[in-house]
Amino acid sequence: MLRSWVEVDLAAIRSNAATLAAIAGPSVKIMAVVKANAYGHGAAGVVDTLAGKVAMFGVANLAEAEEIFPHARGTPICLLSGTLPAEHAAIVERGFIPVVSSFEEAAQYAAYSAGTRVKVHLSVDTGMGRLGVWQDDAITVARKITVLPRVQITGIGSHLPVADEDAVFTRAQLTRFHVLVVQLRDIGLRDALVHIENSAALLAFPKVAGTLARPGLALYGESPLPEFQPRLTRALTWKTRVLLVRDFEQGRGVSYGRDFITPAPMRIATLAVGYADGYPRHLSGKNAVVLIGGKRCAILGRVTMDQIMADVTGVTAAPGDEAVLIGTQGTEAITVRELATLAGTIVWDIFTGIGPRVARLYRDGDASAFKKSDPA
Ligand SMILES: *Cc1c(COP(=O)(O)O)cnc(C)c1O
Repeated sequence: MLRSWVEVDLAAIRSNAATLAAIAGPSVKIMAVVKANAYGHGAAGVVDTLAGKVAMFGVANLAEAEEIFPHARGTPICLLSGTLPAEHAAIVERGFIPVVSSFEEAAQYAAYSAGTRVKVHLSVDTGMGRLGVWQDDAITVARKITVLPRVQITGIGSHLPVADEDAVFTRAQLTRFHVLVVQLRDIGLRDALVHIENSAALLAFPKVAGTLARPGLALYGESPLPEFQPRLTRALTWKTRVLLVRDFEQGRGVSYGRDFITPAPMRIATLAVGYADGYPRHLSGKNAVVLIGGKRCAILGRVTMDQIMADVTGVTAAPGDEAVLIGTQGTEAITVRELATLAGTIVWDIFTGIGPRVARLYRDGDASAFKKSDPA
């Protein structure tokens, strides 16, 4: 019997992909960002369901690309998060598309070419301060790379640091990027894909997406901008089980640190999930809740590595019962945003923190039919 698992609705993910494609319009393709185990949703299942329906998959690194390769069924895979010299040979051999940040990096790929030109995307830093050639150097570097006989720039990309926080900066950055793209097209990169927009930018500025958008979070049904949430369908429910239900007298301590002492007699359930599963330890003492018996039950005391305790006074609860950490039960709901806010972090962090001890189960619309994920 599973102690903690997520249930992922693949129909919701396909529907979000279709919604984002409609928002992007016919001239913009979609790169589905499935890095970090598809934001905790299970990369194998998500890639299986989107293969052939999106133009490209985006992952962070070579290991993630290798993992999804058998599921991508020929859909190209782009490595978004930089590469190490020791990875270059394998990347070329597999035909993964690296993002390069310098002439030297592009030239290194050429060394592994087996005759055909190695496809790379040129990353331009227009304000993120993370990867890429500086915007002011982009033309010079691109000219040098286009002279290399064994490398071909098939994409021009950049990244937005405040797409969900500062619309004024983002709009100006998008304009600067597109001015540069016109110049890059003029020096020969006429057919390169042009991409800069993550979920927030695609939702807020769909008309300036270039020719390829890179949504991650929105694919999973969570909008980085609350005003667009009604257009998306949440795909993930995170559950655990009740291990034990006991009656506490007044004055007993609950969990490490004895931060919580029962103020009165209480019935308390111990649940089979903890911070080692990705349930944030920062939720300790923050009035976070779980759903048991259709009720919001307060988490008491600190989150421990493998277990948490919840107040089930007046609630029907028995060992083996399901408890919902994220998602709905009856008429109650806990959103990932609610947890992220209480934990003092962002929704991306909560999703990607859901760990390997947590099983991934897939359904396809039909709530009753679950299929277990590939064992990792
Ligand atoms: C993670 C990532 C994305 C996706 O961002 P979301 O905000 O989840 O849509 C897009 N582009 C790059 C380069 C990324 O690293």
